[in-house]
Amino acid sequence: MLKFFNTLTRQTEEFRPLENNTVRMYVCGPTVWNFAHIGNFRTFVFADILRRYLKFKGYEVKHVFNLTDIDDRIINEAAKRSISIDEFTAPFIQYFWEDFDALGNERPEVTPRATHHIAEMIEIIAKLIENGHAYESDGSIYYRIAAFPEYGKLSRIKFEGNITGGSERIDTDKYEKEDARDFALWKLVSEDEEPGWDAPFGRGRPGWHIECSAMSMKYLGETFEIHAGGQDLQFPHHENEIAQSEGATGKLFAKYWIHSEFLKIDDVTMSKSKGNFFTFRDLRDQGYSALAIRYLLLSVPTRKQLNFTFEGLQGAESTVERLRNFRSLVHDAAAKGRNPSGSEGAQNADCGMRNAEFPAGRVSATVALEKFEAAMDDDFNTAAALASIHDMVREVNTLMNKQGLSAGDRQAVLEVIEKFDSVLGIFGCEEVVCLDSEVEALVEERQEARRNRNFARSDEIRDELAEKGIILEDTKDGVRWKRR
Ligand SMILES: [Zn+2]
Repeated sequence: MLKFFNTLTRQTEEFRPLENNTVRMYVCGPTVWNFAHIGNFRTFVFADILRRYLKFKGYEVKHVFNLTDIDDRIINEAAKRSISIDEFTAPFIQYFWEDFDALGNERPEVTPRATHHIAEMIEIIAKLIENGHAYESDGSIYYRIAAFPEYGKLSRIKFEGNITGGSERIDTDKYEKEDARDFALWKLVSEDEEPGWDAPFGRGRPGWHIECSAMSMKYLGETFEIHAGGQDLQFPHHENEIAQSEGATGKLFAKYWIHSEFLKIDDVTMSKSKGNFFTFRDLRDQGYSALAIRYLLLSVPTRKQLNFTFEGLQGAESTVERLRNFRSLVHDAAAKGRNPSGSEGAQNADCGMRNAEFPAGRVSATVALEKFEAAMDDDFNTAAALASIHDMVREVNTLMNKQGLSAGDRQAVLEVIEKFDSVLGIFGCEEVVCLDSEVEALVEERQEARRNRNFARSDEIRDELAEKGIILEDTKDGVRWKRR
């Protein structure tokens, strides 16, 4: 049973989707004005683990992950270069997805951009004006926090007195507000100024918070299951998202909130001014692999601070190498257990193997999978989940050295590795032959066709595999296959 800590209730709760088997989740994405740093990627890798684990648990997942392609920094940087904001953000959007993919993350189902959803934002703002949750002042539109008594329910910050300037990203507009806490939904933009959009309440551009309310509710509905993001977004960004969305709809916005803790570098908060600021590219240029960076980022449970050190990254590098080698070893051993081609009659893959019936490997794999699931069910305890994998690796290595594995044991271990990796993505696929049950099945079918002298079918399968980039080799130990 999956349980995790819900920031909204400050309780560890059993996860239950609102209806059916579908999980709708929204994760605040990057502002595409620069390269994302590894602190950002810690949150995004966690979001990837979250979506993959929900699928592992049998849920259908609809994951929305936005790109913020308009804010003051983007507008200023584009103006400095005398180019449009689209021209300025285009390369950073491309770099972001390159880094995102390189780190082994699955692409979310929907990846909306803020500037493509201005109409949806205008619609929500119009609703908020209409029902008294927003007001106009000096041509801009502000959210009236006094109209939303639940304000503060997520961050549990007590609002006494003036709080402006308390947070780096708090709204510090110069215009007249009824209350210092009120934040801008729509900022006045003059006729000749760009970028600006026409709205019933005047030409302007959106505030930062409204975009996430608009994009999440457009694709997930007014109420959805999970909203996640970095801890730094809890206040004011997520608090404001709730105020806007619930102020407009009168319904619960997101049922569960998950916040990823900060990443520190050598125990110091990462910042450009301290010179301890790393992007994914900085680390890759120093020779570290994307797989090791991913491993390090997910090795600490998301609600604990992660202290990044180069020692830790080197450790992760040798760990992922060990995991890759382990899978390769088990896989090759399995390939050797297959029938030699042409030796018809020798149908038993276990034939000739010692201890074919001794299921120590299977037991080890089953226990590891149970511990893995128990750990992930416990507030996504990735550290304990990894420990269960390392225990299995140790046990199976010992077994292989001592007496070898039966074909059945090997198959069980490979299948469990595939399950672990469907969630974590740490074994790596580029360098080793990945287990692919579909390919395995086709190779087997081709062997069967050849045994039956059905060469037309055998050739057909060879071509089909070639199309998938699979090369078959007839060796004295049987048929081996590898990726091109
Ligand atoms: Zn957001």
